[in-house]
Amino acid sequence: MENCLFCKIVSKDIPSEIVFENDELLAFKDISPAAPVHILIIPKVHINSPIEINSSNSAVAGRIIALAADIAKEKGLEGYRLVFNCNEIAGQTVFHLHAHLLGGRSMSWPPG
Ligand code: AMP
Ligand code: ZN
Repeated sequence: MENCLFCKIVSKDIPSEIVFENDELLAFKDISPAAPVHILIIPKVHINSPIEINSSNSAVAGRIIALAADIAKEKGLEGYRLVFNCNEIAGQTVFHLHAHLLGGRSMSWPPG
């Protein structure tokens, strides 16, 4: 999608530190890390936000969660947090579906 930051990262028009890539998914380091490990996992196709996940496109969401588990294992994380911010009120700033994989430090709950 035109004018989407993460679509430009997918097309490599904007550089990123890629951690994993296949035909469907891209994982790259967050530019402003909130934890020692902070990786964003996105579908290559443009989906605005988790609110647009439904029975016809939910398979990709499962594969995002599975990829997060693989990356966490590879990084040796004993635990991690997986966050999908959904819409502005919940902190979403980039409107291309993404999971934040956060780890490498202890975290409190509930979030702010
Ligand atoms: P959210 O607030 O959930 O929409 O998350 C968007 C995330 O994208 C933030 O954590 C930003 O730090 C991150 N971000 C913004 N621009 C870039 C970029 N060019 N490369 C990597 N991460 C980015
Ligand atoms: Zn996009």
